[in-house]
Order: sequence, then C-alpha cells, then structure tokens
Amino acid sequence: MTVTDSIFNRITIVGAGLIGSSVARAVRKYEVCETLALVDANETIISEARDLELADEYYTDVEKSVDNSDLIMLAVPVGAMTSVGAAIAGNLKAGAIISDVGSVKESVFKALDPLLPEGVHLIPGHPVAGTEQSGPSAGFATLFDDRWCIITPPEGADEDALEKLSALWKAFGSRVEIMTPGHHDLVLAITSHVPHLIAYNIVGTASDLEEVTRSEVIKYSAGGFRDFTRIAASDPTMWRDVFLNNKDAVLEMLGRFSEDLTALQRAIRWGDGDALFDLFTRTRGIRRRIIDAGQDDAAADFGRTHED
Ligand code: NAP
Repeated sequence: MTVTDSIFNRITIVGAGLIGSSVARAVRKYEVCETLALVDANETIISEARDLELADEYYTDVEKSVDNSDLIMLAVPVGAMTSVGAAIAGNLKAGAIISDVGSVKESVFKALDPLLPEGVHLIPGHPVAGTEQSGPSAGFATLFDDRWCIITPPEGADEDALEKLSALWKAFGSRVEIMTPGHHDLVLAITSHVPHLIAYNIVGTASDLEEVTRSEVIKYSAGGFRDFTRIAASDPTMWRDVFLNNKDAVLEMLGRFSEDLTALQRAIRWGDGDALFDLFTRTRGIRRRIIDAGQDDAAADFGRTHED
C-alpha cells in the first residue's frame, strides 16, 4: 500500500478499543490526516492509548475532542451512539463528516440523525473485520486490509463526503461496498450476528452440562468446541448491543435457522445419511469459496496471524 496524500485535515476517533485503536493505527500508517485526536470516556483506556502513542491528541471529554474535526469516526458500542451523538452535536464544524464502525446500521442512523445539526454529513459504515479481543492494545493497523467495509449512506448523501469516506477505507486496504442500512442488517444477521449467538449458546450449554464435566469440555475441546469458544469470547457489551439493536433481522434469521436445525434433527432420528452427506458437502463448498475469496486462510487452525 502506498502512502496517500492526506484526505482529511483533522480526524477524531471516539472510542479507543479494538476497532477505534485499529482505525487510529491505520490513519497513522497510511497518513490520511494531519492531526488525529482520540477520545475515550474511560481514563485507563485513554492513558493506555497515550502510552501506545496512537494519536496526536487524547481526550476523555468527547465534546471538546471534535473541535474543528473534518471527520468524526464513532467506534463505541452501538448502544452508546446516542449519548455520544448528543454530546458532540453542538460542537461540530460545518461540513464535518460523522461516520461510525458499528455492527448494526439502521438503529445507528435512527439514533444519530435527529441529533445532528444541518450542514454536517452523517454517513454510517461498518468494517467487516474484527477479532474476539477488546481494548487499545488489541488493535492493529492491518485489520482492515483486504476486508470489506460496508458504507450505508442515506438517500441524497453528499457525494464529496461519501467519496472522502470511501477513499479513507480504501487507503486502509479495504474493499468498499455501498448498501442500504436495512440490507446491511439482514446480511450481517446471518453472516455475523446469528453465528455469534450460536457460539454463545453452545458454550453456555456445554458449561451447564451435568453428565460431562467442565474439565472434560476443556480437555477435549480440540474436537470443534474450541473454535466456538473463540467467537464466544467476544466483548459482552458490544454483542449485547448488537442483539438489542438488530432484533428483527436476527429473529428472522434465527427462525430460518431453527427450521433447518429441526430438519437435521429429523435426518439424524430417521437415519437419513444422504440428507446429512448432501448438506455437509454443500457447506464444505462454501468454506472453499470463502478461502478463494481471500476472506480466510486454508491453513489448519485458521492461520490467524497478523503483522502491524
Ligand atoms: P471495545 O474494544 O470494547 O471498544 C469500545 C471503546 O469505547 C471502549 O474503550 C469503551 O470504554 C469506549 N466507550 C464506550 N462508551 C463510550 C462513550 N460514551 N464515550 C467514549 N468512549 C466510550 O469495542 P470494539 O470491538 O472496538 O467495538 C467498537 C464498535 O465497533 C462497536 O460498535 C462494534 O459493534 C463495532 N465493530 C466491532 C468489531 C469487532 O470485531 N469487535 C468489528 C466491526 C465493528 P469502556 O470499555 O469503558 O466502556
């Protein structure tokens, strides 16, 4: 990736966790702005970010941090977007772009839009990249490299603002896709939200079993269980907010999932090996397509390594 000319003069990132700190690192690595301000309501987190030298300026007061910023990127849990929007609304520069990285899009737009003044451009987004870790130390600059970033501009969004935001994500190495918020929420319900719910559920079920001990579950986890535990270790606040804010799409996909699970239950009960074999062959093909699309590594254990 070549170094880009600055796209923005001043950027403020609100939330210095996994995603906010990764955006900060990418902003620095690809030199997309002149001044980077980082804000987090949590004193411990902002001092950790300062020790890591992630930005030029550090704040715990979100209102002050957006002074004169051209882009404000909200990287807080979805449930915190309203309070952040209310705090910054009175201090935004005319023409500023407000975007976010939240995992749900319709509720974020509905929460922020009524709060923001005329003359600023609200263009939500979601980088489809992450890990099960949290906090400023967990971030890395290459997190978005070769991953998709979905941008969900409202109808009639300012073209120049949309172009600048797309240019930012492309500078980070992302591929950009434009979608409506509703469609985003449906797609992510099946590709991310329901898989997380299944992982949380299976790990919860295993830990509540009586006939199989918890130490046996841990000892023999290489049989498949440990891959669910990675997902189920994801941040509880973030994921609580995702399910509360993408209720309809998640319930719709969960309904379809339950029907298919019942069909599998029936196939096992009636010894329908063909049905099981056909499904498992189809699903193996999907895994191959994900690897071919560069969205995971074929190496055993998923080859999850990264460089800064
Ligand atoms: P994280 O590591 O927990 O970071 C969130 C940070 O925001 C925390 O430091 C938190 O402080 C801070 N914060 C919370 N409320 C705040 C407020 N009102 N003002 C200022 N700071 C506040 O979470 P994350 O994984 O980076 O997730 C951030 C956003 O990215 C979420 O909307 C999530 O849906 C989205 N996202 C996550 C992933 C992923 O894989 N993790 C991927 C794509 C998108 P406290 O800890 O003190 O609350």
